[in-house]
Amino acid sequence: MRIAVVGTGYVGLVAGTCFAESGNDVVCIDIDAEKVGKLKAGIVPIYEPGLEELLRRNVHDGRLTFTTDYAAGVPRAQVVFIAVGTPPGEDGSADLKHVLAAARSIGRNLASYTVVVDKSTVPVGTAERVRAAIAETTACEFDVVSNPEFLKEGAAIDDFLKPDRVVIGSESQRAAEVMDELYAPFVRTGNPILHMDIPSAELTKYAANAMLATRISFMNEIANICTAVGAKIDSVRRGIGSDARIGSRFLFAGIGYGGSCFPKDVQAIVRTAEERGYDFRILKAVEEVNRTQKRLMVDRIQGRFGQDLRGRRFAVWGLSFKPNTDDMREAPAIDVIGGLLDAGARVVAYDPEAIAECRRHHFGDRIEYTDVPMAALKQADALVLLTEWNEFRRPDFDAVKAALKTPVVFDGRNIYSRGTLEKLGFEYFGVGS
Ligand code: NAD
Repeated sequence: MRIAVVGTGYVGLVAGTCFAESGNDVVCIDIDAEKVGKLKAGIVPIYEPGLEELLRRNVHDGRLTFTTDYAAGVPRAQVVFIAVGTPPGEDGSADLKHVLAAARSIGRNLASYTVVVDKSTVPVGTAERVRAAIAETTACEFDVVSNPEFLKEGAAIDDFLKPDRVVIGSESQRAAEVMDELYAPFVRTGNPILHMDIPSAELTKYAANAMLATRISFMNEIANICTAVGAKIDSVRRGIGSDARIGSRFLFAGIGYGGSCFPKDVQAIVRTAEERGYDFRILKAVEEVNRTQKRLMVDRIQGRFGQDLRGRRFAVWGLSFKPNTDDMREAPAIDVIGGLLDAGARVVAYDPEAIAECRRHHFGDRIEYTDVPMAALKQADALVLLTEWNEFRRPDFDAVKAALKTPVVFDGRNIYSRGTLEKLGFEYFGVGS
């Protein structure tokens, strides 16, 4: 099939590359000329495991091209995906300006019947607005379909090529059949393509992210209760996770959820509910718990070293909101480092992928960076672990102890064992353990 994908961010780039990998002819369109220039040269501007290799192969084989020009991709496409950003507006609702601008540009370039697909995460009613925006600019026949994306950054390629399910909201049989044909190679193992009406498809994405965010805030509150009563979150987690109704995945306590999706999608569904006169109480609590959880490590550090952290130096391992990505949007590291700086501390940070992102968009030269994890520890008052990258799991603890000024570890992801560390002479602070 001939496909165009509008927006070459985490979602658009992965979708475009994977559609090319399954034999389609894909044109990726972005208004960011610098990004498109890099992609044309085979440089992937984000870190996503496996993406660069797959992208280069498909570019080399002639199935994948990049452009800033809608006219080079849309007129020839049978299916056009909208995968642009939907950041939160000032009131928390999803800002649709990029989606609607993309829709108008697509409309102006349609040449024959086309299926236009909302892949961005958008509130209920958006497909209708996209349809209206396109209809304003074309006399061509087209259908609008909702096909939310569930990939996880860090495992995006695998998630896209082997999705748990594909959700398709459509009111047109013709469009639904085109989507089935396009997705057939990805569901050979029997995972379902779920057809539904458009509002249900749009809401499914928010419901999924809201449920996952709720699980995180719930486990974080259980961890805080563990601390209060002297229980261990890891035991409780295993105890409840073995109940098949609960399941063992996504039950880890930590320092709050971040990233480009959970925070904004929880806010957006709360806003959508408010607009319809409904008070979404659970999700408001989920947000509130998350806000305080992101401060937890700063409170612990101040509990140990005092409110005034002037003259103190902390080594931070991990900046990205989770491992295997360079994405720092809404990362707990922003709150923790911000809190430490506010209290007068100095911070030296290491992350395998996110340092450039941190320097450019978050802390500039207000903190120090190193590309050697052990170097961060030198003369630091404590190690503060914020992202559970695999390379942090088994450090040489003797070397860690020798490098630190005081052997204190704040483990925001519970990747170390309190028993082991205490035996080695460390003071250990985890989450609910
Ligand atoms: P992103 O910010 O990484 O990328 C968006 C891209 O769209 C940018 O390259 C931008 O230049 C481009 N763009 C903006 N306006 C444009 C226009 N008018 N025409 C062409 N290109 C335009 O965003 P992302 O993280 O890929 O997210 C995209 C959407 O997918 C969002 O709605 C998000 O909620 C959703 N989503 C994201 C993830 C994720 O893990 N990142 C997962 C599932 C769904």
